[in-house]
Amino acid sequence: MTNANTDTLFADAIGRLDQAGKIAGLDPEVVELLKHPKAVMHISIPVRMDDGSLKVFEGYRVRHNNHRGPTKGGIRYHPNVSLDEVKALAFWMTCKCAVVGIPFGGGKGGVTVDPRDLSHMELERLSRGFIRQLADFIGPDVDIPAPDVYTNARIMGWMMDEYSKIKRQYSPAVITGKPIPLGGSLGRDDATGRGAYYCIKELEKRRGWDPTKITVAVQGFGNGGQNAVKLLHADGYKIVAVSDSRGGIYKPEGFDVPSLIQIKNQSRKLKAVYCDGSVCEAIQADSINNEQLLELDVDILIPAALENQITSANVSNIKAKVIVEVANGPTTPQADAALVKNGTLIVPDILANAGGVTVSYFEWVQNRQGFYWPVQEVQDRLEKIMRAELNAVYDLMELHKTDMRTAAYAHALKRIGEAVEAGGTQRYFSEAN
Ligand code: NAD
Repeated sequence: MTNANTDTLFADAIGRLDQAGKIAGLDPEVVELLKHPKAVMHISIPVRMDDGSLKVFEGYRVRHNNHRGPTKGGIRYHPNVSLDEVKALAFWMTCKCAVVGIPFGGGKGGVTVDPRDLSHMELERLSRGFIRQLADFIGPDVDIPAPDVYTNARIMGWMMDEYSKIKRQYSPAVITGKPIPLGGSLGRDDATGRGAYYCIKELEKRRGWDPTKITVAVQGFGNGGQNAVKLLHADGYKIVAVSDSRGGIYKPEGFDVPSLIQIKNQSRKLKAVYCDGSVCEAIQADSINNEQLLELDVDILIPAALENQITSANVSNIKAKVIVEVANGPTTPQADAALVKNGTLIVPDILANAGGVTVSYFEWVQNRQGFYWPVQEVQDRLEKIMRAELNAVYDLMELHKTDMRTAAYAHALKRIGEAVEAGGTQRYFSEAN
């Protein structure tokens, strides 16, 4: 989170429920249920630092709703992590799992820490300490964490190992996003970006786009952002601007994305590269800041960093015709309303970035089966789900003459509502009497 709006994130998130609930024909009891997280855990994690001192970190885990299955969601390490943020992220996970029809509810966790201030050993002690406190709150049939911002496969591996030691049994299905040798799934590394890419490919079909004429800017050049634009670039889309936490670069003719990724991952810096055949050399690109990137006149804007990037303060300057939300919650409700009024098509986070949790589900299935799939099978299954759900949401949007976010929530809420109603609502129990 990057602005002062932090304490309203959960309230803003559930603010979507009433309108989408009406479209989905949801029983009001279901809306009421979803306004409250099922369980909230607030822990402190004492960590012995390398210099011998003791530091205590605040951590959270929220299980929002489990009517459709065990709760599922990432663990974030970031200095701005708060309970409000984790509750909002857990709510989004409930909706996200339902949008793509996987049998999970929503959960999320976080530790208020800047991991860049920790040594590798301190990071391991923190991650294992987090799991020791949470061991009775999570589990393969209860709540299944995964990576999120500033957590990665190695951290998931430590966490799985710690949980397995506590339970005295090898338990790979307790956490997803693990390294491949520790039970991770092939295809999980690029699944979020790939899911967003399949969404864009369906829009391309529906809207008759010629990829070579479509310009794209991406804010946040990490896992989600990099993988989405890598695939788009390979199909001819022009990636004209990219940024990370330190700033961005802009080149109207488009970047050679594979070289950009290579340089970023080697030097941790963004530098422009010109490629002709196999000859690549560094060239000049304009430096831009993150504000300027968001306001570029491009066809597709991909926010892939953090929440609250498109707000009432900058929405009147946003020119992109399509926004694909790889990040969770990059658009505030006020900015969202203004964009929709303006005719901007927004593929909402709960659909656009659902590829990650979908392949996490595949990882959990493989762990439980003890039978591992080739990468092509993972990608084929992901593609089938993302394309089908994008089209279902798009059809719903057209049917109800609404925006895509409302349609995505309605689509998700219908599935959650069916699960809740299968257990009985007031109508059922009144009739039974
Ligand atoms: P990441 O840590 O790999 O990358 C984040 C990128 O954003 C980094 O390049 C960082 O430098 C950049 N960044 C940070 N602050 C920025 C700022 N103010 N302006 C511009 N760039 C900034 O994280 P990720 O896994 O790619 O996650 C990014 C977003 O996608 C998050 O909102 C996350 O919740 C969401 N998401 C990720 C996944 C996944 O599987 N990775 C799944 C669903 C949603």
